Amino acid sequence: MKKILVPIKMVLDANMRPRVKTDGSGIDLSGMKLSINPFCEIAVEEAVRLKEKGLAEEIIVISIGTAKAQDVLRQAMAMGADRARLIETDQPIEPLTAAKLIRFVAEEEKPDLIILGKQAVDDDCNQTGQMLAALLDWPQATFASALKMEADTLHVTREVDGGHQTLAMPLPAVVTTDLRLNEPRHCSLPNIMKARKKALDITPVSVCGVNIETRLNVLNVKSPEPRKPGRRVADANELVTELRTAGVI
Ligand code: AMP
Repeated sequence: MKKILVPIKMVLDANMRPRVKTDGSGIDLSGMKLSINPFCEIAVEEAVRLKEKGLAEEIIVISIGTAKAQDVLRQAMAMGADRARLIETDQPIEPLTAAKLIRFVAEEEKPDLIILGKQAVDDDCNQTGQMLAALLDWPQATFASALKMEADTLHVTREVDGGHQTLAMPLPAVVTTDLRLNEPRHCSLPNIMKARKKALDITPVSVCGVNIETRLNVLNVKSPEPRKPGRRVADANELVTELRTAGVI
């Protein structure tokens, strides 16, 4: 029976409009709704489905972030994760640092499978899963759109340019989720209540032996230029004329 580790990140809720800080140093998160990163939610759902099929015994979710990240860990436990670990820090964490901290937890927990989101939608880095696999020297399958576990072999269908690719790999392995892997469930009230009683261990980042100093220097963050309003055309002929006039065709 397998143990699955699912790293989840708390990000600005996808329905919120990002607000740039006045000094241009980043996105202002004060008073904003924060939620589980959508690709991480898909990762939790996939782990729960594997457990429901009797293919996994325990699901541990982990988040690296502030005390507030306990909210997304509780949500993941309401979806069906068994316990949670918070690596607590107030500092911004870059993907390589996140990968090293997840490796620290993986070395303690010894999971058979780690499922991450393909990317966190706050910075869209798409790096942590790949870096983690390299650090652990485990096989990896990124952008999974289907996943099948048979004994100690994992079959992962990946969304790649021009179609699908299916890989078979031995466990332990690292997988990152794509959008079409599954549709995450809504949490029922009884499961939300049950999740409150599940174990959530907090480890200060300082005891993990990982240098969390940032290597990237953010020079400036600014909002995109407002888009010019569109104009409705009467028919295809008018559209072609407009495109010719604009020099597009
Ligand atoms: P990224 O490489 O930042 O786009 O993130 C890819 C995936 O790595 C996310 O979907 C999470 O599964 C994991 N991850 C990144 N940062 C964190 C974090 N601070 N805490 C937990 N998991 C994270």
